[in-house]
Amino acid sequence: MDLRNRLWPGIPETKWSDPEWQLENRLKGQKGLAKFLEPFGETAGPFLDCLEQYKWAATPYYISLIKRHYSEDPVGRQVIPSPEELSVSSPHSREDPLQEKRYSPLPGLIHRYRDRALVLVSNFCASYCRHCNRKRTWKKPECVPRGQKAWEDIKAYIRTHPDIREVLVSGGDPLLLPAAKLEYILDLLKSIPNVKVLRIGSRLPVVLPMAVTDKLCRILRSRRPLWLNTHFNHPHEITPEAKDACDRLQLAGIPVSNQSVLLRGVNDEFAIMKKLCCRLQEIMVRPYYLFHCDFAKGTDHFRTEIKHGIDIIDKMWGDTGGMCIPRYVVDLPDGMGKARVMPPHLKGLREGTALFQSFQGKFVNIKTG
Ligand code: SF4
Repeated sequence: MDLRNRLWPGIPETKWSDPEWQLENRLKGQKGLAKFLEPFGETAGPFLDCLEQYKWAATPYYISLIKRHYSEDPVGRQVIPSPEELSVSSPHSREDPLQEKRYSPLPGLIHRYRDRALVLVSNFCASYCRHCNRKRTWKKPECVPRGQKAWEDIKAYIRTHPDIREVLVSGGDPLLLPAAKLEYILDLLKSIPNVKVLRIGSRLPVVLPMAVTDKLCRILRSRRPLWLNTHFNHPHEITPEAKDACDRLQLAGIPVSNQSVLLRGVNDEFAIMKKLCCRLQEIMVRPYYLFHCDFAKGTDHFRTEIKHGIDIIDKMWGDTGGMCIPRYVVDLPDGMGKARVMPPHLKGLREGTALFQSFQGKFVNIKTG
């Protein structure tokens, strides 16, 4: 289905590729969802309880990537609300699955791991992903630091914790902040002597690639060393526009890596995951993490078996190069941190010997040392 022409007929390319136009014309709330559903002959009625609970908005660009009925489309499933978001099936499901509140000494600052900290700079996103593990924050502006004093407090905290050498700037989408505010935050963090590296988490290259402008790239370039992690989940998201956005970042000296989430009905098949990771490598984006879907309330319908994720990665190991294989990790419930769940090839280890199973399933005993 050509949703661009059905929903925004006659919009010239100059407007379509204008990030401001895209943001102004996002579909959102009940009215926007009704407009989206019209071509499918459906109404927003069955979604109202879900909209009451969780925000909804999506850019025309990202919506235009939906090609089938939204409930069966890999982009549609990620961005169109579902009544399933209201049912809880896992005993681990929590509003705050990573217990970020417990590790938050100040509003917007999370300090879980010794040498790095996370700052949530906004709760605004261009499109709200239905599998987001921070969907609890979408309607809570108090989750992010507000005002200069809040930022000075964050600076003081990080400075008095000299082990913190890396700060991850996330949200919401930090790259949607007004340029002056983004510069202020990055400069404030860079001015802390123990902060050696900044890392930004942004889904802009995926949901609004036209907003990755030369001006934005210049802002990031002048604040290096700075890494950017984005969030492609399906090969359909790797469009020419997305590739260009990643190119602009890379040409500005910003390495781009990808964190996917394993999502039922989106990318939980070997062939899809392999294609996604190979396409990422082709656009010079490193497949970095594959997250098991966090135990966030409202996302249970996306979660697969861990065994299924291991099987996908195991099959990729024998089928494609190491640069295309992300690290599969589970963020453990109750804030216990990340755990690697890579399929083990080492089957036994004793002083002087190690037993491996090759990617073809053969056992190989080697003498070590
Ligand atoms: S862009 Fe990131 S923070 Fe925003 S809704 Fe999607 S996953 Fe959540």
